[in-house]
Amino acid sequence: MWRKAGELKGKRIIQHVKNLKPDLQKLSIIPTLLCNARCKFCHIWGKKGWALKEPHGVIKEQINFELLCRFIKAAMVSEKNFGVFLTGGEPLLYSEFPRLLKFIKNNKLPLTVFTNGSLLKKNSRIVAESVTTIAVSLDGPPGVHDKIRCIKNLFFDACEGIKTLFEIKKQKKCVLPLLRINYVISEYNAHCINEFVKAIKEQFEPIGAKLKFDNMSLEPNAITVTFEPRLFTTKDMGKKYALEMKNYLNCNVSSSWRGFIFDKSRLDPAKIKKNLVKIWKKEGTCFSHFVDLKEYFENINNVFGRIRCFRPWREIRIYPNGEVYICPDLKDFSLGNIYESPFKEIWNGNRIFQFRNVLRNRLLSLCNRCCRLFSYY
Ligand code: SF4
Ligand code: SF4
Repeated sequence: MWRKAGELKGKRIIQHVKNLKPDLQKLSIIPTLLCNARCKFCHIWGKKGWALKEPHGVIKEQINFELLCRFIKAAMVSEKNFGVFLTGGEPLLYSEFPRLLKFIKNNKLPLTVFTNGSLLKKNSRIVAESVTTIAVSLDGPPGVHDKIRCIKNLFFDACEGIKTLFEIKKQKKCVLPLLRINYVISEYNAHCINEFVKAIKEQFEPIGAKLKFDNMSLEPNAITVTFEPRLFTTKDMGKKYALEMKNYLNCNVSSSWRGFIFDKSRLDPAKIKKNLVKIWKKEGTCFSHFVDLKEYFENINNVFGRIRCFRPWREIRIYPNGEVYICPDLKDFSLGNIYESPFKEIWNGNRIFQFRNVLRNRLLSLCNRCCRLFSYY
């Protein structure tokens, strides 16, 4: 769950960001945009997503394995503390997925993989050997989940994948990979959170797993369950964002932001909050530092004290065509392309310098409900 600003807020956060130095913590990679799901809320493949409007070739594009490895190696020369994050699309559909995992393991980099779980069982051996954290999306009890993601039997397939990893860990007496289930609260599943909790307990408690409804748990038999409210924007905020990007960075934005617009009248924020608080209380989760979900959905101007974003100094995301961006899923201000520019030129170059300068002094209008605003301290 997103967290409020905590100690670092107000003047302190402004001062902190003024003094921030680039220190890469997350190298986020989308090796392919291909996905076997069609989640209704997805800003890529959903009803309002941008992928279906792209020419077919763009969607099929996958990142060149050798080039990507060279880029990661170069990053390792100047940056010492980063982990790799594979996301998508569905990263397990990347044609070089096993080789990439081996490469990352051989280079001793922590690796987190975000997946819809459909191919997890099939890839469980390689995942168990190489991955630090596996985050599987489950968005409801079986019927609801499969309907949202538009794949038959996906709930049970994903659960089978998690169970297989759980068993491998048990056999090997290993803590890794850490197992995480991620529930994105949206207008499609806000009504069935209780049924979801019941369904996952039925799946995982019989095999001896302990469900933890909090931060990532390091207990060997734990499966962490996180609830995250969906990202969103409004038409007005989106238009304001487009103007800001033009004024501050001379950037004509793509239509990506439109994929985040949603009709919030279709959910009941007060009820979501009440349900979750009940679950957290029952499960012994301390939730006082979590954002207020009612406020999150009803008042987009409240950023819970997070008046600056740290990400431009901490993380970059590479797309299958080699383009590199800061903001997740906003393909607007490219920092360069790994097919043309070496790591240093992207991470310390003029483009990222311009972006950091803008973000040192303000948020952009799309930041208010961006996951990255809430994920750094
Ligand atoms: S699994 Fe992920 S990438 Fe695929 S459609 Fe769903 S949200 Fe989009
Ligand atoms: S919070 Fe804003 S600047 Fe930071 S990653 Fe998100 S959209 Fe980009």
